[in-house]
Amino acid sequence: MASKHQADYDVIGIGAGFAGLGLIHYIKEAGLSIKVFDRATDIGGTWTWNRYPGAATDSEGFYYCLTFSKEILQEWSWSQRYPGWEETHRYLHFVAEKCDMWPHIQLETEIVSAQFQEGSGLWLVTTGNGDTVTCKYFVSAMGMISEPNVPNIQGKDDFNGPCFHSSRWPQEGLDYAGKRVGIIGTGATTVQMLPEMAKTAASVTAFQRTPNFVMPAVQKPMTPEWEKDIKDNYDKIIETCRNHVFGMCFNSPVGRNLADTPPDEVQRILEEQWPKGSFAFVFETFDDLLTSADSNKAVADFICNKIRQKVDDPVVAELLCPEGYPLFAKRPPLDHGYFEAYNRDNVNLVDISGKGALVEITESGVRTTDGHHDFDIIVLATGFKAYTGSPEAVAITGRGGATLTEKWKSQSPSIMGVCVADFPNLFLITGPQAPFANLPTSIEQNIMWITDCIKSMESQGYDVCAPKLAAEEEWVAHTAEIHGQTLMAEGHKVNSWMMGANIENKDPRVLIYFGGANVYYDKLRESVDNGFPELEFERLA
Ligand code: NAP
Repeated sequence: MASKHQADYDVIGIGAGFAGLGLIHYIKEAGLSIKVFDRATDIGGTWTWNRYPGAATDSEGFYYCLTFSKEILQEWSWSQRYPGWEETHRYLHFVAEKCDMWPHIQLETEIVSAQFQEGSGLWLVTTGNGDTVTCKYFVSAMGMISEPNVPNIQGKDDFNGPCFHSSRWPQEGLDYAGKRVGIIGTGATTVQMLPEMAKTAASVTAFQRTPNFVMPAVQKPMTPEWEKDIKDNYDKIIETCRNHVFGMCFNSPVGRNLADTPPDEVQRILEEQWPKGSFAFVFETFDDLLTSADSNKAVADFICNKIRQKVDDPVVAELLCPEGYPLFAKRPPLDHGYFEAYNRDNVNLVDISGKGALVEITESGVRTTDGHHDFDIIVLATGFKAYTGSPEAVAITGRGGATLTEKWKSQSPSIMGVCVADFPNLFLITGPQAPFANLPTSIEQNIMWITDCIKSMESQGYDVCAPKLAAEEEWVAHTAEIHGQTLMAEGHKVNSWMMGANIENKDPRVLIYFGGANVYYDKLRESVDNGFPELEFERLA
């Protein structure tokens, strides 16, 4: 059934990364028209912006991918366990070409606003140069960790050399060989970037406020045997991810709590798992690490002992050991030689956690209360406005005239991270209160729900779907209750982006559903099977 009001496109998406490309596939398959806009000069999203040295996936490549095409899964070959940004970027090009997606993509086009039009039920979308375009369904495919968090450090515009956020790495590349590099922040980005830059830079200095629990990645080349095994078992791999609490290809729960395991056996299990690398260290050892403070502490102590073994200088080692917060209250990075890099003569760690606080960026470097550090390049690896930052960067106005930013002032409610009350026909891919999981798995599950909803509306001749406030309140309360039962709830004490606690002048909040990605995917499916009870469907006169 055709809508009464004709839009330029059935669907407009913002963001041409994993989410935008996946959306194009499913919407095309539904027989509807779609245009995806992206302000970048290339597709890839995260994997076109984050071109810093050492950037790589933290999920293993063979399941950090879209699964809708068996042909692509068989044809594409990953060269190693954790593909770098170039390879992931090439993969996304391969997907776009193979599935004839380019006609549906418009690059170098920033969307600055989108307004729901009450009379027509359409979205009026405006680009940076003032062009307007309409659609019936408006989808944020901007990624949940993409809007940079650039702290207001005094003097940052005065520096004489390059000074930029890590996700705005110069697209043409940056010659840092023989240069003195200062990096502010020590999150997952720096953990990847620092050892790589240290190989050729004159010096690399990291300014650390809070140390992280960094676990080994253990990079490995893909072998023909391993690749064959993966490709022979892709259905099983996809099913495992779909049924895993974090959407990953791990065998968990393991049916064993640390609290019930004798200490010797705990050590044996942790020692055995450690050299294998990946987040399996958390997910394939014990099931109570994210809920029991004592069990978590035992593993946290184990990790700190490993750090002490890796770092030669005991003072530096202690600075690198997290304390006072549980493992996973901040998202733990994976290590590709991060700690060993501090054993090099050209790598320095500056503690800015307290008395050695960061004061300002000057024309020639960084001043802390302890002195001045001269640099040629400064990288602000200061993280992201996760979950909410990207949708808030576009002026999205819903029913009643309020923007998403206004709605999300003190909390950021949604229904399952896919839609928001007062914002009809707006969909989010991995919005707030979706799980934090292997992202391609969550992205694809979200897109399936969105596409099923759109198909259902189209087949029944509905013009508008309005998310119900009561359903939103229910999801927010449920998410908060589960969040409170995990140790991630301590994230606000250590500026965790997982609670939005890293953003200046913003209240921490519950941003993530930790009830299990698998449980969440089941809930999405139930919603489809039950005819989307969270939504009110309307026909316009
Ligand atoms: P992040 O984990 O949020 O780390 C930001 C760092 O900047 C922290 O060390 C923070 O210190 C510091 N910082 C922020 N504001 C500061 C200020 N005003 N003064 C001094 N230091 C400041 O950011 P990220 O490293 O970019 O990683 C973010 C997330 O992106 C990761 O957790 C991960 O989910 C994703 N990511 C993924 C990959 C991958 O999968 N391969 C790679 C990179 C990033 P405090 O901790 O004290 O606040």
